[in-house]
Amino acid sequence: MRLVIVGGVAGGASAAARARRLSEDAEIVLVERGPDISYATCGIPYFVGGEVTSSSELLVQTPQAMRRRFAIDVRVRTEALRVDRETREIALRDLERGTLERTSYDALILATGALPLRPRLPGIERPGHFTLRTVADGRAVSAWIAERSARTAVIVGGGFIGLEMAEQLRVRGLEVTLVEALPQVMSTLDPEMASLLHAELRANGVDLRLGDAVDRFDAPERGARASTVALRGGARLPADIVVLALGVRPDVRLAREAGLEIGALGGIRVDERMRTSDPRIRAVGDAVEVRHTVTGAWSLISLAGPASRQGRIAADGVFGRDSRYPGTLGTGILRLFGLTAACTGATETMLVSSATPHHAVHLHPASHVGFYPGAAPMALKVLFSPDDGRLLGAQAVGRVAVDKRIDVLATALRGGMTVDDLAELELAYAPPFGSARDPINLAGMAAQSVTAGDVAQAHWREVASLDRASIFLLDVRDPAEWAEGQIAGAAHIPLGELRERLDEIPREREVVVFCRSGQRSYYACRILSQRGIRCRNLSGAYLTWRAGMGDPEH
Ligand code: FAD
Repeated sequence: MRLVIVGGVAGGASAAARARRLSEDAEIVLVERGPDISYATCGIPYFVGGEVTSSSELLVQTPQAMRRRFAIDVRVRTEALRVDRETREIALRDLERGTLERTSYDALILATGALPLRPRLPGIERPGHFTLRTVADGRAVSAWIAERSARTAVIVGGGFIGLEMAEQLRVRGLEVTLVEALPQVMSTLDPEMASLLHAELRANGVDLRLGDAVDRFDAPERGARASTVALRGGARLPADIVVLALGVRPDVRLAREAGLEIGALGGIRVDERMRTSDPRIRAVGDAVEVRHTVTGAWSLISLAGPASRQGRIAADGVFGRDSRYPGTLGTGILRLFGLTAACTGATETMLVSSATPHHAVHLHPASHVGFYPGAAPMALKVLFSPDDGRLLGAQAVGRVAVDKRIDVLATALRGGMTVDDLAELELAYAPPFGSARDPINLAGMAAQSVTAGDVAQAHWREVASLDRASIFLLDVRDPAEWAEGQIAGAAHIPLGELRERLDEIPREREVVVFCRSGQRSYYACRILSQRGIRCRNLSGAYLTWRAGMGDPEH
């Protein structure tokens, strides 16, 4: 068996190491265009910011170590130019010497990754305009900042990389403007969750420009080192450095030219064993399209975990093991200054666009019991099927222990669990870590109250669009909370007075009740509905309302 792997980072390196563990006899060739293999791409922003002090710390394996430990023929600075499927050969160019060679394969794994998008905007090729993909890119950004004493940065794109870079460039002391064409950052969150990130960015001094896009990069003015970034809305932003974080597209040149099937999203089509349309060729990582576990739709997922696991599955297949990739949940996490934002499965936006029936619950539970120091609330959103309560997706944003909640939810989602299962999960509890009813249990219980018909829900977006005269909006918070801010037009009856003041509630209109986080308004709904009053609980209550309306409490 002669296995050739093209691409030596997350997917390729994992495939190579697994292949060697499965066969001591196979010839394994790992071909990588760049100078490094098996590096932690995900750490690049933290190297630029200085939290990771040396770029060499990002190199998980060196070519020499990979050769020695795994007896793999590692060829760095070598480009795969063409795949000839008839003869089962690959044309390679040694980029140092300029020499060409053909090498044969019995099995081929393509782990060619993705390329950063770089739109053809005027001025974009000027020095100081960077994309970020490799350790070399990270070094170049860092050196530019140091050598030019850069003070102002414009980041274009508010996805994971743009946000991480916004944080890290602030850590490095730069004035940062982040430009995002959509009305929100991080499109893997629904808008009322992303809104919390907007507040965090602004609170940390990032000039956030949403719903605006770059028109062109003009020649630098006022001493700027890179360009003056001209936005379509008319703003002109001087930039000592520009970071282009507009997303990626799968690098499928080799696959396309070899005649392999390419999907509608531009990724290599693979089956669950990571086989392309040619069974001798497998493909993994950012270069491929995989099925989304919840929606079943083909998706492009640019995440290190899936790439690494797919590499292992592809190697298993080459050596006769029947490993399969079950599809992606798109589980992702981001630290943004003091906040953590995480998601798994489908967003409500995805479910709406695929016309998938769903319910959503919003909660604001504390990370752990309030009496133990350090507790902080988190915004938690759980999406589930109205038919059987099966989980469809979840999002969490907060300051403490968000990661473990999303990982539990991702595990539950992968296990096909329902909201009843969440309510019953036995999770570890001691005061520093959680509460006897963990946020996960609470989410399950909140969802159960919907599926059991104990409470009907209203959502912020719907209430915002309703004619206010058609409903009776009722605020049951305490007077002190009420004094701090209200939803326009809402009547105020604190929960403790509700039973005595029922005659103030009209019977001919539906009542939409809210408190601060949704729990007291749930109790209010139970009081009202048992007296025959039509009512709904505003999901996530005042906190979700404010976030949805773009003005989250901070
Ligand atoms: P890549 O890692 O891109 O590797 C592909 C390799 O193939 C490249 O090195 C390329 O040079 C080589 N190649 C391509 N064509 C050829 C050819 N013809 N010949 C030879 N070599 C070739 N994911 C997370 O899950 N969490 C994170 O926090 C996270 N942070 C990130 C931060 C940054 C700045 C970036 C850029 C990405 C981040 N990612 C993160 C995404 C993650 O790094 C990718 O999903 C992952 O690296 C994909 O692995 P891959 O093997 O498919 O592709």
